[in-house]
Amino acid sequence: MNRVAIYPGSFDPLTMGHVDIIKRAAPLFDKLYICISESTAKSYTFSLEERKQLIKECFPSDTIEVVVNKGLTAKVAKELGAQYILRGIRTYMDMEYEKSMDTMNSSLYPDLETIFLFASSHLSTISSSLVKEVAFLGGDISTFVPPNVLNLLLDKVKKNEIE
Ligand code: ADP
Repeated sequence: MNRVAIYPGSFDPLTMGHVDIIKRAAPLFDKLYICISESTAKSYTFSLEERKQLIKECFPSDTIEVVVNKGLTAKVAKELGAQYILRGIRTYMDMEYEKSMDTMNSSLYPDLETIFLFASSHLSTISSSLVKEVAFLGGDISTFVPPNVLNLLLDKVKKNEIE
């Protein structure tokens, strides 16, 4: 049986933390869907199209596909034929949150497993919101995001589009 996973997240924007998880997980699966969540309750710095494009440019592979999710992640996983949800863990706070999500998903879809990878230690403090904040304040974030993300992020800082 093909091993199919989805990696859901906001990716607002993609950071080296996400890239690291994707690179480490990709060999474990036959197909990995990077699933961008778009919620009307949230506001994003990067548009859906921008987030999608940036990820696609970083992973031009047949086995890694970018999709969009406006609903329930576990439902989308089933629709895509995925048996696994992939998540990254940086802190105890991530762990607490993920535990409750896993419990909920397991009760909704018992045959769906969530696979957790711990963040690599040098990236464990990196989040999309932190890189945006530091970039806005003029800090150098070039080692924490891929080059295409850096360019667009600095562009947004210049145009004052970062909240
Ligand atoms: P969400 O809004 O779903 O938390 P994010 O884009 O912030 O969306 O994160 C998506 C996933 O990537 C989550 O599982 C998160 O824990 C993981 N992640 C984010 N940053 C890192 C990092 N630096 N190292 C490892 N995993 C990370």
